[in-house]
Amino acid sequence: MTLEIPYDFKIKELCQYLRIGKYSRILLQLPEGVKQYASIISREIENECRVEVIISGDPNWGACDIPVFEAKRIGANLIVHYGHYPYSYNPIHHELGVDVLYIPMEYKGGIPDEILSELEQLLREKNLSNPIVIATAQHLREAKRIVDELKKKGIDARVPEVLGGLPGLVIGCDYRAITQATGSNDSVIVISSGLFHALGAALATAKPVFQIDPYLMKVSSLDEERKNWLKKRYGVIYKALNATRWAIWVGALYGQTRLDYAKHIAGLIEKRGGSYLMVYSRYVTQREILSIDSRDIDAHIITSCPRIPIDDFTLIDFPKPVLTPGEAIMVLTNQLEPYRFPW
Ligand code: SF4
Repeated sequence: MTLEIPYDFKIKELCQYLRIGKYSRILLQLPEGVKQYASIISREIENECRVEVIISGDPNWGACDIPVFEAKRIGANLIVHYGHYPYSYNPIHHELGVDVLYIPMEYKGGIPDEILSELEQLLREKNLSNPIVIATAQHLREAKRIVDELKKKGIDARVPEVLGGLPGLVIGCDYRAITQATGSNDSVIVISSGLFHALGAALATAKPVFQIDPYLMKVSSLDEERKNWLKKRYGVIYKALNATRWAIWVGALYGQTRLDYAKHIAGLIEKRGGSYLMVYSRYVTQREILSIDSRDIDAHIITSCPRIPIDDFTLIDFPKPVLTPGEAIMVLTNQLEPYRFPW
């Protein structure tokens, strides 16, 4: 493979899989940020694997979004989804005659020793010696190596097991690697890029969280980010305390349809004497919320993707509270401490 792309697309293995499954047309899903390589990757797959490739141009933020209807409509009997493992809460492997293959797209680069020394120093400064190490799909392999390196330095690190999931794997709405971690871990190390996954980790636990960003070659503490974000989120939560009329948003994307969970929240609303409106939608942005919002709605709860209220900046200053499911449960059960994230 001659690509100057820092990820392993496993083209050889993909070709083998395609030959065995006799697929002739595939729908290719690439994560945001990697779509810029779409023409190179699709050409490579077409040439090497002798299969017709159609690229999905829709937004793709996670493994919760598998476009089986769209694949079916264009006669593709396989979706190749790059960048994630199967969605932990609602994995889709075969639906409507369409197979789904997940290729996590491992990052080819490594984390240099200087970064590990910096991390060691940060841990020692805070008297921390039992971290768990978690990572996004691209860096899961590196998590194991970092554990080995830290152990050599006398730090008792480990990759945590996850009941019903992959050890150490973290996605934007699944932090069970942290919340299920038993034993005496005193801190969390997240290997990920950008703020998204590391911030989620900092919101999911009160323990110190450190991020290693393999692209920026940087290690940092999430203490300040956590403080700032909790301040913002509690501002929204307090605004929702007197809400009685709610809109509950249910996702129409394949993995985001959590009707039972939405009904559970609806039950809590009714128990408090409130009322609700259930809204079913593929995407939820300020535009969709504004179009449904009215004088009859006091607050909104987003059950499709719990990151939307936090990561969509236009919703933080939305005139009415827009809550994650975890925050809604805090309000509806009068349990404002500790902060509950994400569900
Ligand atoms: S629901 Fe949101 S956070 Fe979870 S996988 Fe989908 S896009 Fe990511």
